[in-house]
Amino acid sequence: MAVEASSPTMFSPWPDRLRHSAIILLSAGLALVALVVFGELSPTRAGIVFACIAASALVPWRLHDAVASREEVLGVNPVEAPAVRAIIAGMPDPAVLLDRAGRVIHLNTAAAQLAPALRKNELAQFALRSPEIITALREAIASTEPRRATYLDHVPVDRWMELIVTPLSVPTAFGGADTCMLMTFHDQTPLRRVEEMRADFVANASHELRTPLAALSGFIDTLQGPAKDDAKARERFLGIMHTQATRMARLIDDLLSLSRVELSAHVRPDTLVDLLPIIRQVGDGLEPLAAERSVRIEMDLPGDPVMIAGDREELLRLFENLIENALKYGASGGQVLVSVAPSTSPEGAPEMRVAVRDFGPGIAPEHLPRLTERFYRVDVGDSRAQGGTGLGLSLVKHILNRHRGRLLIESVPKNGATFTAAFPQVKTPLRHKLTQFQRVGAVIQLSLNHHKRSVDQP
Ligand code: ADP
Repeated sequence: MAVEASSPTMFSPWPDRLRHSAIILLSAGLALVALVVFGELSPTRAGIVFACIAASALVPWRLHDAVASREEVLGVNPVEAPAVRAIIAGMPDPAVLLDRAGRVIHLNTAAAQLAPALRKNELAQFALRSPEIITALREAIASTEPRRATYLDHVPVDRWMELIVTPLSVPTAFGGADTCMLMTFHDQTPLRRVEEMRADFVANASHELRTPLAALSGFIDTLQGPAKDDAKARERFLGIMHTQATRMARLIDDLLSLSRVELSAHVRPDTLVDLLPIIRQVGDGLEPLAAERSVRIEMDLPGDPVMIAGDREELLRLFENLIENALKYGASGGQVLVSVAPSTSPEGAPEMRVAVRDFGPGIAPEHLPRLTERFYRVDVGDSRAQGGTGLGLSLVKHILNRHRGRLLIESVPKNGATFTAAFPQVKTPLRHKLTQFQRVGAVIQLSLNHHKRSVDQP
């Protein structure tokens, strides 16, 4: 238990110690009195000699007692003063203060949670048994230079921590300083994950590009060699080569779009756009594909413009991906329904939702959380056969992130899937950014809708 330095308990062992000094003083006193009585020493000199003996008998005891009792009161190590303890406790990252031998003087709550085996007054080496950490500790003591090591934690999830051991000169409670080591842990998990994702991405992208490239060079070899004079084979191979080249172009296109959206992820679009003409344009553009797959595209759109803060080109890409996927993977349902309706986010903010529903085979629940990962497909063969790149939904997610929106995916296997893009509704200040051109456009749109409704009415 820590007690203040001015506590009255500090010098409690003092009377026991005094007994030894008293014996010394008594013997010295008797000897000096005898010398004075026999005229060997003047009383003044005897007094001075007695004072010196008394000082040398009492002062060391007192100092010794003070040091010993302070160590008892404050704990094992004199550097564990309240200020030092408060600094370690207040550090946001896990932090441990060690003495020169590697014994824990103090550790904060974050460190105790990270490595529960670390205990006060015990050697840190025993708790963190990694050879790399032990070497870092030893080298930091020997060189008085900071050393780094990696600390891996596997429970409850994998975590990579960078451990830095910094030798410090810490003032002790009674003046002077002691060399200690400050051991801090810094979570590198997010950086590691990004690094892993980047490496995976490059590997996947190269693999995806290499496959059509290998097919193209194979067909070129065949056309230059065995099939040189075979007009029928040439026709067929050129068709396949065209498909592969289109696939490569699409992949590169998707990769570039993805990196463009990522680059501007922090800048939210601030131009007001009407979602309805964008959705209609995408629907019209995909009519040939729908006809080819015998699918009917139905739109359930409100009459009034639906204005959001958005980037028109990105929104075109977003709806193109969602509706095209519904046509490709949900073709067996024969129908794709696109609807727009207002709703509220889980936080209660108003939002506008665009739902693309198909009635195809749907998606098994275990795939749902991973669908927006780059290159993730439920069935790679099916996706490739449909000309897919595995980047569509990832792009959708990034575009929505930039628009501060969300993607909701619901699916019941054998009963289709619904992909919903939810956009925050614009707040009043943004409306002021409506350009003159957009204002006129919105008015025209409103009057056309009004006119259409009047014509439709019987
Ligand atoms: P792809 O280029 O392969 O279409 P996406 O990222 O757009 O890549 O989609 C990822 C995967 O999600 C697809 O390969 C497909 O397996 C699945 N998927 C997407 N939309 C649907 C849907 N409407 N119905 C069933 N599966 C879907």
